[in-house]
Amino acid sequence: MVLFNRLQTRIFAFFVLVIIAVLALSFWLSYQSNQRLEQQYVANQLEVASLVFESQYDNRNYYLAAFASTAAKDFGLKDIFIDGDNRSFLVALNNHRSRINASLAMAVSGDGTIIGQLVASQDDLGQEVVALGSEQHAPFRYQIDTEFDQISPFYLLDDKLYQIKFSPLTSGGNSVIGWVGFGFLIGDSLANSLQKLTGLNSGFMLIEQDTITNVGHSGLAIEQHDTQLVTQYIVKDQLDNDFILWKQFLGEVDNKSLHAYMFKSRSDLLASLESQWLQQVAVLLLMLPVSLLLAFWISGTITRPIKQLIGQARFIAKGNYHSNVSVDSSVELQQLASEFTSMQQAIVAREQAIEHQAFHDPLTNLANRNQLHRVCKPWIEAGSSMAICLINIRRMTEVNVTLGHVVGDEVIKEVAKRLCHINPNALACRLSGDEFVLAFKEFERSTFDAFLAMLQVQIGQHYCYKDISLHLQFTAGVSFSQPGVDIVTLLRQADTALQHAKMNKRDYQIYDANIDKNSIERFQLINELKEAIEQNQLVLYYQPKLNLAQQKITHVEALVRWIHPKRGIIPPDTFIPIAEKTMQMDALTRWVITEAMAQYHRWQTQSIDMCIAVNISAENLKDEQFCYWVINTLAEQNVPVSAMTLEITEDAVVSDPELAIKQLTLLRNNGLTLSIDDYGTGYSSLAQLKQLPVDELKIDKSFVQKLLHTEADQIIVQSTLQLAHNLGLKVVAEGIEDKETLQWLTERHCEMGQGFYLSRPLPERQFNDWLSQSAYV
Ligand code: C2E
Ligand code: CA
Ligand code: CA
Repeated sequence: MVLFNRLQTRIFAFFVLVIIAVLALSFWLSYQSNQRLEQQYVANQLEVASLVFESQYDNRNYYLAAFASTAAKDFGLKDIFIDGDNRSFLVALNNHRSRINASLAMAVSGDGTIIGQLVASQDDLGQEVVALGSEQHAPFRYQIDTEFDQISPFYLLDDKLYQIKFSPLTSGGNSVIGWVGFGFLIGDSLANSLQKLTGLNSGFMLIEQDTITNVGHSGLAIEQHDTQLVTQYIVKDQLDNDFILWKQFLGEVDNKSLHAYMFKSRSDLLASLESQWLQQVAVLLLMLPVSLLLAFWISGTITRPIKQLIGQARFIAKGNYHSNVSVDSSVELQQLASEFTSMQQAIVAREQAIEHQAFHDPLTNLANRNQLHRVCKPWIEAGSSMAICLINIRRMTEVNVTLGHVVGDEVIKEVAKRLCHINPNALACRLSGDEFVLAFKEFERSTFDAFLAMLQVQIGQHYCYKDISLHLQFTAGVSFSQPGVDIVTLLRQADTALQHAKMNKRDYQIYDANIDKNSIERFQLINELKEAIEQNQLVLYYQPKLNLAQQKITHVEALVRWIHPKRGIIPPDTFIPIAEKTMQMDALTRWVITEAMAQYHRWQTQSIDMCIAVNISAENLKDEQFCYWVINTLAEQNVPVSAMTLEITEDAVVSDPELAIKQLTLLRNNGLTLSIDDYGTGYSSLAQLKQLPVDELKIDKSFVQKLLHTEADQIIVQSTLQLAHNLGLKVVAEGIEDKETLQWLTERHCEMGQGFYLSRPLPERQFNDWLSQSAYV
């Protein structure tokens, strides 16, 4: 089965079938034509036999008749006949006879007596001997004028049969005085001459009922068996199929019928045809093996290039992509081969592309994590003093959300470009969205400061894309190779350092073991925070907000602290990010708001009318239930909505602006005051903030703390004030650390001020003390 599935076998089988069919057809056709040829040949032979016989027989008749007529007109002969000189007459008759070499010469008198009968025969030496016939002087057995007409010119004499023709001898008055006749022997010699002419065995027979007399036949070839056969045929008209026979009834002789016949065995007759046929068969049979060999060769030739291609394809399949596929064959197969070659090149190109993709970042074309591992592994194994600097671009989420992903992608590409310029020997990689790595093979710790300065210069350059100008900032975590530390660990350490830097709001952090200790602590905090909320380990500190126009404390900001049973006071910057990442922000904010409402009532009982601002995290805004809870709880606790301000940072809005706006609108429609916290640190413009349903802006403390020493900050604060007022927003300045700044802001109609100059955030009791002693009541 497998063998037959092979192309070569199939082609060969096809050829074999075609060859056999062609041979069978030609065999059948030549057999048919041979049969026809045989029939034709036999028919021809019989016609020839018939024609030859007739011409011989008729010729002899004509010749004998003409000669008899000539002799009868011979006056010499006639005179001697009339004279009655028998001897002289016989001599003259013989002379005439010998002229045509007749076997019999006869003269019959008018009364029917044979007056001359000369029979010529040959003696043993082949000499002609002429003798008187046995019927000399006997009465002629036939009536010449009636019986011996033209039809039956036969005369049987002494067992010999003659073909004889008479002509009348006439007297002067034209009366018949006798007849003169000449005859040829019908016998062996005639049969022989017929055979010579036709190639057939010839003979004559006299048949009288069952008695058959052989009158003459053509020599030696005829055998007893054949004679019998011919006889039978002539009598019964039936013939053995092996023989071809021609016969003709010639006439009656003494009540016997005379027949001429010619025959030959079929095989003898058709011997030449048969040998020709056999030759044809032999040629056909010889063609069979030759054609089969040819078919085998052709099928091999057709499939050889295919086998070559199979071989080369296997070679390619083993991963050898640089061979040149070729076949020494037809144009089509050469094309196929060249297609193979191009396919091979395409595979190489694709494999290279796939490999490139596997080890590179598609957006920036920088190395990716895989490539970082691949390159750094040998560095570590070689014991190089490696450094990994993990770089996080700040606020990339905001860029993506506010300016769109196209701009985000351009920023990432720009950062990639800048990183590549820092050190040509360093490997620059992109690990994920806004995380990059610079890996150094040989790194001197002493050059770290220079490197960092360079990094800050490179990344910190202003970036302009279309009309947008951005100030790119980064946070970095750095780890240095230590004996026995692999690349995975080194990267994790850099990441720990990075998280640490972020948490402490630092630009960078070099990893050391203590950080890990901190992260362990951080991990513990995660677990403890839940309990802390439930067990009231949290406390609210209050920082006053001064109404600058009235010079009166009308508001406070509630800032949470965690009084940890073992660690003491933990600042919000440490645990707020944890709460945000561990889904505990909802519980925390609800605690803060509940506590702030309780505080409101406590102050109310002390106749202190204070509006409280609470910080809301991005996580809270994502939860629809949260807003309803705030509104409902205020109503339940009987706290007027006007007494509550919610502070939200810009980035709380950017992740899902639609939802955020919906929530803020709901809150504002219910009478709550909304404030944008840390204004100026994000990427959103005032125009964008215009969309938000808010009442107030809190200028970030970074612009206020050194306001009087920094002209740029003054410009920013001044213009923010103007724009905000134009939009109908109130402005709160936080981070006021001195009197002059307070003065400056008051002069410029900033609505409220907050800062250490007035008071640090204080727990309830201390705040109450501060307030009672304060000048702003
Ligand atoms: P924030 O909302 O910007 O709060 C103001 C922060 O600036 C407070 O730090 C405050 O102590 C500090 N500050 C006020 N005036 C000055 C000044 O004149 N100079 C300087 N250098 N700093 C000043 P705090 O209390 O450590 O809070 C840090 C941050 O933690 C807050 O920043 C706020 O984002 C977050 N936070 C605090 N309490 C809560 C809370 O209850 N809920 C939420 N979601 N976040 C909170
Ligand atoms: Ca705040
Ligand atoms: Ca703030």
